[in-house]
Amino acid sequence: MLPVADPVSLVAALVVLFGVAAVVWLMMAVGLRESPWACVSVAGANAALGASFLLQEALGLVPRMDYGWPDFLSVAAFGLIRLTVPLIGDRPAPWRTTLLVVVGVSLLTARFTDGPLGLPHKLILFSTMCVLALLAAVDAWRLMRSRGLHVRAALMLASPLVVVGLLLLSRPLEAALAPGRTGDLDVVSAFNLAWLWASLVLALLINGWIAFLLLMKLVLEIRRLTERDPLTDALNRRALSEAVDLEHARLMRGHGYALVMLDLDRFKQLNDTLGHAAGDAALKALVTLLRPCLREVDRFARLGGEEFCALLPDTGIAGAALVAERMRTLLEEHPFTWEGQTWPLTASFGIAESAREDASAAEVLRRADQALYGAKGQGRNVVQAVELEPATKPAP
Ligand code: GH3
Ligand code: MG
Ligand code: MG
Repeated sequence: MLPVADPVSLVAALVVLFGVAAVVWLMMAVGLRESPWACVSVAGANAALGASFLLQEALGLVPRMDYGWPDFLSVAAFGLIRLTVPLIGDRPAPWRTTLLVVVGVSLLTARFTDGPLGLPHKLILFSTMCVLALLAAVDAWRLMRSRGLHVRAALMLASPLVVVGLLLLSRPLEAALAPGRTGDLDVVSAFNLAWLWASLVLALLINGWIAFLLLMKLVLEIRRLTERDPLTDALNRRALSEAVDLEHARLMRGHGYALVMLDLDRFKQLNDTLGHAAGDAALKALVTLLRPCLREVDRFARLGGEEFCALLPDTGIAGAALVAERMRTLLEEHPFTWEGQTWPLTASFGIAESAREDASAAEVLRRADQALYGAKGQGRNVVQAVELEPATKPAP
């Protein structure tokens, strides 16, 4: 049995909820300098949904409207929700097509259907809102994936809007199964009461979901700032150090790892000749060029200056040598260009693999550094490994 409440009280509660949410989101837009347009968009969606319910039920405040404006406001609200996600992700929002869909569907349902009680009217209106909600869910999934969230976590974050989208379809479905029975929102029927209670829950869910999305974006951004080098977007020294320590902890369970350390050759000359801006561009170009040499599980970090390091889990010295040689050749074959000038960019590589006897990851890092020093001594643009003593060689 559903909790007792008459439809008009439930609509009043919904109007109050949407109104308060609209004001809070507007305050967030002004106060919170992060994604202000996304906040304005959610405020607009709440205001539109509140107004839509108010106009349908009137509540004695304004002239009652059966459909037309209420329909337009409902579709517009979902259009705004659909625009909010790209706005949160600082990506261009498809507002032209969304506006076209909102206006087009509103005109279509107002002019060419037989009123709010008919199935075609409900079908067009609610499936449009459902599609807009699903598009917002897809956008949210893409946004979270692009910020480095795992597939499962990103799917979980996108799922509330899928639920909203599917629930929206329940209204035309009910109209199809029981034609003409439900009637207007203020008709006391089990379906109407369930629908209004669901709307209350969904209103909270949508607002909470968008707030959570914003929070998640901020958290991921902060995490990115703490673990990335701002110039090249490679990991920074601290993040690499944490990753290597974690990998070292797996060593006891038989998972060895290798390090490839590299330092650009005669980089000072490039800076002195082409300027510091060219040097910066060369560092960025190097990261872009070398990234495809690595697997998804590998880590690539800028240790500082023009020195980088790749962490290769479950890899021995032979694998590391292959990767380093591939990187070395790639650099050699792709000279750096700056304002029409070409500069041959090469690097020296030191590689090392972990051994069970290494007390900490620092030992492996020290060996890779030592190998890199050897590579410089050999005349640069070479790959050098520090061979382990036979006694400390890991079992094959
Ligand atoms: P080697 O082949 O022995 O490595 O010589 P090198 O010139 O590469 O090495 P050195 O250590 O003498 O010089 C490194 C230079 O890297 C000096 C510094 O100006 C430059 N550098 C360090 N960090 C940055 C940076 O963020 N941007 C730019 N443009 N240059 C940097
Ligand atoms: Mg150098
Ligand atoms: Mg250096």
